[in-house]
Amino acid sequence: MPWVLKGISDGILTSKYPRKSDGYGETWRGSIKISPNNLGLDLSHVAKSCPTNAINIEQTHPQVDLGLCILCGNCIDLCGDIFSFQPDFESAKLDRDLLVVPETVEDRERLRAVRAALYLRVRTLRRSIAIRHVDCGSDGSEEWEISALTNPIYDVQRLGITFTASPRHADILLVTGSGSTGMIDSLKETYLQMPHPKAVIAVGTDAISGGMHRNSASTAKNGVDGLIPVDVYVPGSPPSPFGILYAILLAVGTISNRGKPC
Ligand code: SF4
Repeated sequence: MPWVLKGISDGILTSKYPRKSDGYGETWRGSIKISPNNLGLDLSHVAKSCPTNAINIEQTHPQVDLGLCILCGNCIDLCGDIFSFQPDFESAKLDRDLLVVPETVEDRERLRAVRAALYLRVRTLRRSIAIRHVDCGSDGSEEWEISALTNPIYDVQRLGITFTASPRHADILLVTGSGSTGMIDSLKETYLQMPHPKAVIAVGTDAISGGMHRNSASTAKNGVDGLIPVDVYVPGSPPSPFGILYAILLAVGTISNRGKPC
């Protein structure tokens, strides 16, 4: 009986995202931001401290590859004036190169073209989306966030999104993990068994680039991108449930790159 009263007094806790922004999403470490006031600074010690070599100081201005970044915070501890966490969970991109920040004007133009091509391909999926998830050697953290999508807070069923055990019923393939060799054939077969149109989302740094394991003999080089064609890249280690939800909606063209429903 007490839980009934608690449920009534708590009211509806389900998020209204993407119709309305949700303050909780902004509390996550979404990505790394670099201050533009970095010209002429020696950041080699910061680059060396990065466990995945995500910081490139060869350019005039340093860049961070969010596809490699595991959000450990070393760069911020060493140089908090230049590097900071960006509390933005809408960090998924439709192109691997766009994960390198700060982005350029050319990046934005290329994004428009990629987005239009993907929209044409998957526009029939907008109302009801079945998802198949394949774990390709994940550490389990992404799985926690994916499973949270079906709880009462995120409740993705309200958006017509369901999970399926069969690739033949799936429209979207969520891939986690760095592509361990024992899973490569299963991943390719799952992709082949899915009907058209379909989209693939690489969830987390490991799936995008291999992360900490990308030089390991037992995983694919550079994540799962070389194994099957990836349409959306969700950085983070792990990304938040809102970040994954944003990527799903981005893949099927129901949300703009600014997180607004289209
Ligand atoms: S937060 Fe990202 S960019 Fe910074 S040191 Fe860690 S992995 Fe490298």
